[in-house]
Amino acid sequence: MQVSHRIVLHFPRAVTGEPIIYRLAKDYGLMFNILKASVSPQEEGLMVLELSGRDTDFQHGAAYLKERGIRLQPLVQDIRKNDDRCVDCGACVGVCPTEALTLERPTMRLLFDPDKCVVCGECVPCCPVNAMELQF
Ligand code: SF4
Ligand code: SF4
Repeated sequence: MQVSHRIVLHFPRAVTGEPIIYRLAKDYGLMFNILKASVSPQEEGLMVLELSGRDTDFQHGAAYLKERGIRLQPLVQDIRKNDDRCVDCGACVGVCPTEALTLERPTMRLLFDPDKCVVCGECVPCCPVNAMELQF
């Protein structure tokens, strides 16, 4: 059975220099379409991609990723900042890996840049008022 999954990969620092995606294609026969990426050598990275292929190949490829310490997360469709809830506390700024969330100076209001967001969902649990909302 052919499958297609949109997923977020969280790369630990140790593997960001490895040809992980190349291996998925070559060794597991998976096709990939990278939607967004924030990966630098020797830093933790994130990649949002669509992986397609046979279901068994996908399962083996996913097992390979987990073996390499890479965390897989199903891709949420979108993330939204609820302006009515946000109290500009800044708690989410430090966890955002792509600087999509920043505090504007001197107003100290939270700015959300959707173009920088890789929809990793890391900001959701750290918000005390549930202002960052996942849209599945
Ligand atoms: S989901 Fe949140 S933490 Fe992740 S990139 Fe987007 S704004 Fe940043
Ligand atoms: S953690 Fe929540 S309330 Fe605080 S700045 Fe971020 S979105 Fe706003």
